[in-house]
Amino acid sequence: MNIILFGPPGAGKGTQAQRLVAERGMVQLSTGDMLRAAVEAGTEMGKRAKEKMAAGALVSDDIVIGIIRDRVQEPDCATHGFVLDGFPRNAAQAQALDDMFAELGLTLHAVIEMVVDDEVLADRVSGRFSCANCGHGYHDEFKQPKVDGVCDVCGATEFKRRADDNRDTVAKRLKEYHETTEPILDVYRKTGVLRQVDGMASIDEVARQIGEVLAA
Ligand code: AMP
Repeated sequence: MNIILFGPPGAGKGTQAQRLVAERGMVQLSTGDMLRAAVEAGTEMGKRAKEKMAAGALVSDDIVIGIIRDRVQEPDCATHGFVLDGFPRNAAQAQALDDMFAELGLTLHAVIEMVVDDEVLADRVSGRFSCANCGHGYHDEFKQPKVDGVCDVCGATEFKRRADDNRDTVAKRLKEYHETTEPILDVYRKTGVLRQVDGMASIDEVARQIGEVLAA
């Protein structure tokens, strides 16, 4: 199965994508994660993306479309199916994805919108951190490691926070989401692949609702 997890920053797309990886062996394709890795590695692409990301703006379409086009053609995506997390984010990317699926003979099984009130997003985003080793996500208030300072998944003791997870940048990213990203849902509503889950529910409950969508 190939799906898109859709929603504003802080909706929990990454958390739910990680569950789909752990529980179903699907491949998580997070353009944000891939861009952060490129910035950290100092690649040419990372250099091009860095400033936009720090400002909470979208990086150019050719970069992210190129990343996804290359990645979906790797064998693990065909074997296990993939979860797009953070892509597409505007009409041009949605069109490119549609063209890519047609050209490569891929099927988009569902677009799952995680519906969350704007008011809670700033708190969710500003409290999050992740394991520096395996990338597993945590939150100061909602999802602490079981043993303080130790990653539940890999046992590492170093954690990191994203440079763009601050209140100022979150406000800009949220504005960008409503103005540019959210309108593309209309396309998926028309093609009948759009499903909604309650992104305000607990992590387990959201995972259960996503499971129901995938089983339908
Ligand atoms: P995310 O981890 O999905 O919140 O993305 C973090 C940042 O990476 C965004 O604020 C953008 O600057 C950039 N980014 C991630 N995905 C995309 C995309 N599909 N299109 C453009 N920029 C993106």
